[in-house]
Amino acid sequence: MRALPVLKVRAASRRSAAEDQVLVMKRCVTSGCMDRPGVYRMLSRDGEVLYVGKSKRVRSRLLSYFRCAFPADKGARLLREAHQIEWEYVPSEFAALLRELRLIKTLRPRFNVALKRDARHFAFIKVTAGPASKLLVVRGASDDTAAVYYGPFFGAQQLEEAVRELSDVLGLRDCALTTHMHFADQQELFQLYPRTPGCIRHEIHKCLGPCVGGCSVTQYTERVALAKAFLDGSNDGPIAILRARMVESSEHLEFERAGILRDKVQRLESLRTQFLRFRFAVESLSFIYAVPGHDGDDRVYFIRRGRVRAEQPAPRSAHARAEVNALAEEIFGSGERSGAQVPTHEIDELLLTTSWFRRFPDELGRTSEFSPRGAPPKTRI
Ligand code: SF4
Repeated sequence: MRALPVLKVRAASRRSAAEDQVLVMKRCVTSGCMDRPGVYRMLSRDGEVLYVGKSKRVRSRLLSYFRCAFPADKGARLLREAHQIEWEYVPSEFAALLRELRLIKTLRPRFNVALKRDARHFAFIKVTAGPASKLLVVRGASDDTAAVYYGPFFGAQQLEEAVRELSDVLGLRDCALTTHMHFADQQELFQLYPRTPGCIRHEIHKCLGPCVGGCSVTQYTERVALAKAFLDGSNDGPIAILRARMVESSEHLEFERAGILRDKVQRLESLRTQFLRFRFAVESLSFIYAVPGHDGDDRVYFIRRGRVRAEQPAPRSAHARAEVNALAEEIFGSGERSGAQVPTHEIDELLLTTSWFRRFPDELGRTSEFSPRGAPPKTRI
C-alpha cells in the first residue's frame, strides 16, 4: 500500500521531464525559426528521425504542433516522443515538397508511415515479380523493386475492371501471391508444398493454371510479355484475341456470348485509350521549370518524364546560362526509353510533379521546352 505514493511521484516526474523538453523545443522554434519555406525533422532522444514534414511557412507550421488540443492528435503524440526539432530552409514550396519526399524515402521515419499524399487520386498497374506474374492495381510503389509499374491512371475502380478483363483474356492468374506454382515443365524431386487444387478460373479457361501444371513456364511468360506490350501500347494482341472469339460466337449464332465479348473489347479499348493518354501526360512532363525563390533564391529544375533530374540556381550571367544549356543538353539530349512503364524509384516523384502541376496549372507558364538542336532554353523568371 505504501508503494503507491512513490509510484505516483515517479510518474509525475517523468511527465514533467517530457513537458520540460516540449518547452525547450518550443523555445527553440520561437527564438530561431523563420517563417519561410522549409523542411523539418523531429528526432527522438537517441537520434532516430521520427517524422519529416514541410511547409511554406515552417515556423508557423512547427508552432502549430504545440497547440494540439488532444493527446491523441498526431502532433501531440509526435511531441511526446520527440526530443529535438531540426529544420532547414529551401527556396520555395516546390523545393520543400521535393526535399521532403527525398528525405522520407531515404530516412523512412516511422511517423510518416507511407507516402499517401496523392494516393487517393492516382493508381498504377503493377506487374508482380516472381515465377508467375500477376497484374495488380495499386496506389503507389512498394518496396518490391523487381516489380514493373504502369501509370499513373485516374479512376481506380474502372482500372480494376479493365485489368481483370486483361488478365482473363490472357489467362493470367489473380490468386494470392503466396500460392505455390507448379508449371507443366517443372521437375519436382521433392514436393515441398502441398499441391494447390487450382480454382474455377482454370476450369472456365480464364487462367492458364500455372499452379496445376496447366502451362509451361515459357507459355506463361509469353502471356505476361503480351500483357506488358499491351500496357506499353505496342501490341493489341488481347483485343485481337477477343475480337476473333466474338466473330466466332456470332458465326455460331451465340449472340448473347458475342454481346458479352463485345463489351469486353470495349473495356479493353478504353484501357488502351487511357494508356495512350497517360503516355502523352508523362512525356509532356519534360521541361525546364523556373521557380522564383525566397529572397531572390530562384532556381531552375530540369524535369524529364515527371522526374526532377537536376536543379540549378537561375542563371544570371552569360557564363551561368551556358552552364544551364550544357546541363539541359546532357539531360534532354540523351535517348531514353518511352512507353508507359515507370521504374519503381520514379513513381513517388512522378506523382509529386503530376499532382503539383495539376493543383497549380498556372505554373506550367514558368516552364520551357528544351530544343535538342541546341537552341537556348527560355526561362521566364
Ligand atoms: S488456377 Fe491456380 S494460378 Fe490460376 S488463379 Fe486459380 S489458383 Fe491461381
